[in-house]
Amino acid sequence: MEELLERLLEECLHFTTQGRVADYIPELAKANPDALGIYVIGSEGKHSWAGDCHQPFTIQSVVKPILLLQALLDNGVELVQSRVGVEATGKPFDAINAGDQSLDSGHINPMVNMGAIVMCTLIRGATYEERFQRLLELTRKLAGDESIGVDEAVYRSEKSHGSKNRALAYLLKSYGLLEDDVEEVLDCYFRACSIQVDCRALAHIGAVLSNRGRLPVSNQRIFPSALARYVNAILMTCGMYDGSGEFAMRVGVPAKSGVGGGIMAVVPTRMGIGIYSPALDSKGNSMAGIHLLERLSKELYLSIF
Ligand code: GLU
Repeated sequence: MEELLERLLEECLHFTTQGRVADYIPELAKANPDALGIYVIGSEGKHSWAGDCHQPFTIQSVVKPILLLQALLDNGVELVQSRVGVEATGKPFDAINAGDQSLDSGHINPMVNMGAIVMCTLIRGATYEERFQRLLELTRKLAGDESIGVDEAVYRSEKSHGSKNRALAYLLKSYGLLEDDVEEVLDCYFRACSIQVDCRALAHIGAVLSNRGRLPVSNQRIFPSALARYVNAILMTCGMYDGSGEFAMRVGVPAKSGVGGGIMAVVPTRMGIGIYSPALDSKGNSMAGIHLLERLSKELYLSIF
């Protein structure tokens, strides 16, 4: 496996020059555009890696499936689905969803910003500080890494350049889809996006989802298998922004990307994969990361289709 990862990584390295590091949050623009790393955790517990896989980066939108999981654990499927739908929007993650139709829960899903912002309001906790701490605990458990924390510089940068997310949150409020104080909810969302991870952490999260809610090796159950089905299905249809359909054809597994350059991929029953490469394509997905996953999928017949 290591040899295969090394070879594919070598073959895909040049794609990093075709992408661009996100700069709408100034702190993200500091990432090294040439970086590319991959980490794989197999269902039998074997770890394999190549490239810049120990480089820390912020989780960004890859936290959305964790926000969804926490909301599902706290409220159950019925309530969560009544508040945020499951259909793909076919629009960018931060699209202002206001056309001539009114906004309702069926127009958003937990993988776009509006849906993820609502998920923050569904997490249990007396304060938003407590809600975020519970989310962080779940992230640590899923990632198999108790040391995971927040990148404070990215968090401050997100918060001071978050006008678009404020617009989205106020829009939700105006349509009755969000009741709490917008700044408090967004503070939780910004901190969630600023959680610092590496490829190993993302591979571990993917491995738990691929193992239908159980930790690799120990088999300890973290969440019910029905919730793994719910999350994996949404990742398949909505996880890769408005490039999810093409990703389904080229790679064919549930996955989530973030503008920090991370991709967390779930190969049901077989493995979790974590990728880092911050040079992004026009949709916000890691450019070299998708090429690397596409090649790996072909070599190992990973597509579920
Ligand atoms: N912090 C980012 C935002 O909401 C997350 C974006 C992403 O990774 O898609 O703008």
